[in-house]
Amino acid sequence: MRVGIVGGGINGLCAAWQLSLSGCDVTLFERGVLLAETSSASSKLLHGGLRYIENLELRLVREALQERGWWLEHVPAHTSRLEICLPVYRQGRRPAWQLKLGLMMYDRLAGSFGIGRHRSVLKEALKSSFPLLKYEGLSGAYLFYDGQMNEQKLGQWVIGQARAAGARLIEQCPVSRVGVDGVIEHANGCDQFDLVVNVAGPWVCELNQVSGVNSHHQLDHVRGSHIVLGREVDRGYLLEVPGERRVFFVLPYDGQTLIGTTEVRQDLHDRVHCSCEERAYLLAAYNHYFSSPAGESDIVDEFAGLRPLISSANDPGRATREYAIERCGQLVSVFGGKWTTARALAKKIVREVNHGVH
Ligand SMILES: Cc1cc2nc3c(=O)[nH]c(=O)nc-3n(C[C@H](O)[C@H](O)[C@H](O)COP(=O)(O)OP(=O)(O)OC[C@H]3O[C@@H](n4cnc5c(N)ncnc54)[C@H](O)[C@@H]3O)c2cc1C
Repeated sequence: MRVGIVGGGINGLCAAWQLSLSGCDVTLFERGVLLAETSSASSKLLHGGLRYIENLELRLVREALQERGWWLEHVPAHTSRLEICLPVYRQGRRPAWQLKLGLMMYDRLAGSFGIGRHRSVLKEALKSSFPLLKYEGLSGAYLFYDGQMNEQKLGQWVIGQARAAGARLIEQCPVSRVGVDGVIEHANGCDQFDLVVNVAGPWVCELNQVSGVNSHHQLDHVRGSHIVLGREVDRGYLLEVPGERRVFFVLPYDGQTLIGTTEVRQDLHDRVHCSCEERAYLLAAYNHYFSSPAGESDIVDEFAGLRPLISSANDPGRATREYAIERCGQLVSVFGGKWTTARALAKKIVREVNHGVH
């Protein structure tokens, strides 16, 4: 079967890889460079998403935890296990019992794919265990584990797998139209496929729209920014933004400190960049918890990406992180999808292509 894929982000590349493995003849069209959009601007976590438990997205969390285990086991060169501290503050929005319950569920959902159970840190050991944190108001802490990736290297590994399985990956080739009859019109001409997969990330609906294809799902475009401090941090931290229910991460990355992220709705065509306000917001959140304050001059890098979230809630923090696959004739469209779950999503696309089910 000849399959044409639109979009060379992690979801398109995993689809190319898995479809090629299943015996399809795959051509992928990327309008720019592979893995240069949302898939290069993540928090670099291979995670189940502890906070999605609050939104009761248990199917997604379970799948993501299994996939976390898969990446860690099969690509150890570009992935690692990360210890994350979840501190409990007296003024926090979530009581200790709620955090404990969430962590117990997280361990449980991971099942045999678990990479280490969470544990509590004794009150008397808080100061010595977390020397970087301000001690005031700290009443307890938990430690749990997630995965971390070198996003660029893991992405290159996936590209290598897709090519080795026989997929043709064409860059600098924008697609102007996809058809329910299996046609793809692109910068170099027009091709007929048995099936087309539109996995253009944040641009999936726009491409369907200009192609005259109606989608049941709509996307919200929610920017997320990170800043990088040129200093080390001893482990990951999952923290509440002061005065909000939102959480943010402080993570070790390449000998530096990665802080993120934000949630700012924007139009698809607005510039995707870390604004001054987001920079100040992330710095203030970091300085609230860490005893050695950071200023603008400590920021060595910053980046932003656009989340393709299925429209589901006004508050982006509560919007579903689930993905959806929609079929219309010979066109399959993919909405949403995390880095961690890209391979699982691709396997569902294979089932859709081969059997029309997912
Ligand atoms: C701030 C932030 C932090 C995140 N952190 C994490 C995390 O820690 N862990 C995790 O698992 N997930 C995380 N995610 C989610 C994850 O990064 C994304 O969901 C995922 O990368 C989306 O991949 P994608 O392939 O769908 O989209 P993209 O990577 O955006 O790829 C879509 C591709 O389609 C191409 N394209 C668009 N239109 C056309 C066209 N007409 N013709 C040809 N090509 C086209 C684009 O150029 C682009 O390359 C995060 C996301 C953000 C924004």
